Amino acid sequence: MIAKCANPSCSTDFHYMREGKLFRMDFDPDQGAAPGLSSDRKPVRKVEHFWLCGRCASTLTLVMNAGKVETVPVFAPAFKAAAAS
Ligand SMILES: [Zn+2]
Repeated sequence: MIAKCANPSCSTDFHYMREGKLFRMDFDPDQGAAPGLSSDRKPVRKVEHFWLCGRCASTLTLVMNAGKVETVPVFAPAFKAAAAS
């Protein structure tokens, strides 16, 4: 499922769950629809997991941006807490 670090410029292979940080991202197929329109039904969500190695997790986090997962510096103003479960 997870093969390597989610940072495109890092090639660390995923070996141990206890290293780094695991992210659960929900891909909402209704994204882009007007807010409120989809509240009366359950959209089918696609859930994917991403992993940042220990080195990357200390400086980067993952955010969902327009349906794409992007790495951003943890101290960036646009930082939105991604659920790191
Ligand atoms: Zn990495």
